[in-house]
Amino acid sequence: MSRQIVPALACALILLSAGAVSVPVPADAAAEVNAEYAKVEALYLDLHQHPELSFHETATAAKLAGELRQLGFDVTTGIGRTGIVGILKNGAGPTVMLRTELDALPVTENTGLPYASTVRTKDDAGNDVGVMHACGHDIHMSAWMGAARIMAANRNTWRGTLIVLGQPAEETVAGARAMIADGLLTRFPRPDFVIAVHDDARLPAGLIGYHAGAILTNADALTIKIFGRGGHGARPDATVDPVVIAARTILSLQTIVSRENSPFDPAVVTVGSIHGGTKNNIIPDEVQLQLTVRSFTDPVRKRLLSAIERITKAEALAAGAPREPSIEYGPPTNALVNDSALTRRVSAALLKELGPTRVRDAPPEMASEDLAEFQVAGIPTLMMRIGAVPQAKYDASLRGGPALPSLHSSQFAPDREPTIKSAMLAEVIALRELMPVSR
Ligand SMILES: [Zn+2]
Ligand SMILES: [Zn+2]
Repeated sequence: MSRQIVPALACALILLSAGAVSVPVPADAAAEVNAEYAKVEALYLDLHQHPELSFHETATAAKLAGELRQLGFDVTTGIGRTGIVGILKNGAGPTVMLRTELDALPVTENTGLPYASTVRTKDDAGNDVGVMHACGHDIHMSAWMGAARIMAANRNTWRGTLIVLGQPAEETVAGARAMIADGLLTRFPRPDFVIAVHDDARLPAGLIGYHAGAILTNADALTIKIFGRGGHGARPDATVDPVVIAARTILSLQTIVSRENSPFDPAVVTVGSIHGGTKNNIIPDEVQLQLTVRSFTDPVRKRLLSAIERITKAEALAAGAPREPSIEYGPPTNALVNDSALTRRVSAALLKELGPTRVRDAPPEMASEDLAEFQVAGIPTLMMRIGAVPQAKYDASLRGGPALPSLHSSQFAPDREPTIKSAMLAEVIALRELMPVSR
């Protein structure tokens, strides 16, 4: 009798586990990443050798859109000019957007790599420039496609709607706004979460970094014109010299961070360009300054900008300038604040699967990113950092060896295999955590 009952019980258990309880076999993300890597690396080498500038990413977008369609994604192109949206619906569940950037930089590659970019083009101002993925957006696109391949091939491991977003023009911080203005959040399912990765030229390849709260800054771009009264260089008494006013203004601006701002509030005021005059013996009519101003919070941002205005006007007044200086503000970038609950949830999943040697808290930096536009739109957002530095170079730099090339450097050469694999792992683990089969 017992011999008859036991098989019946076992059968009932199997039915239970196949039905409402639904306990899938845990996916081995590392094995999936290894299996996809050859295809992903081929895409990386192709993208690296064919970089395109902001809002000119047409061939890049077409390539990615084609691959996504083959994987079964519903793809829309031309959102926010060159952006792409791929959607994969896989039952009831959360909607998660995985974002990559598409654009490269006007930098002539100087890495010496056999697959270095040799692309040259005209920028929007008509200058002849080299083009390079010096920010590693080719790493992001490849890993993003690798994650899309894994999610499309293993639909029993997640439930929900996956949106893969190819965003143009991150480097000019215009692409996210352009896509949102083009209906990204209304024409398509509104995401419950937005996640992204960025490679990190300060961390060893293979490491995944996370940090709750602000990780990247507000950035304001200012153009200041200081007006004087030009004349002969030998007759300064007949002029109001805007070069001298500009020099004093630049030095006074340095006291904002050092004397007016709390040392506990990180802030930067950099005058990155100064242009005025044509010749030794001519005092010009005007001098132009260009500034970048960085902060993490709105009160600090307001304090910095109002101090710049006050000091700039006061220096001109003190010199007897004939006109008040003009200040123009470029499009602002908002600080990127990783949602605390989302960061805790994803970092716990990463730590559980990969352990603390691969996953750790990574410090904020004074750079900026337009991923912040999604968090400004009210969607919990998370950017993870992916170490990109070859381990030997990283170790040497700690021992006082050569400085590591930063992002945007012509010599930035990420250690491609561990960097891409870590980015894929971070994305796949995060997506499955946020779109679970059952809880
Ligand atoms: Zn960049
Ligand atoms: Zn970047």
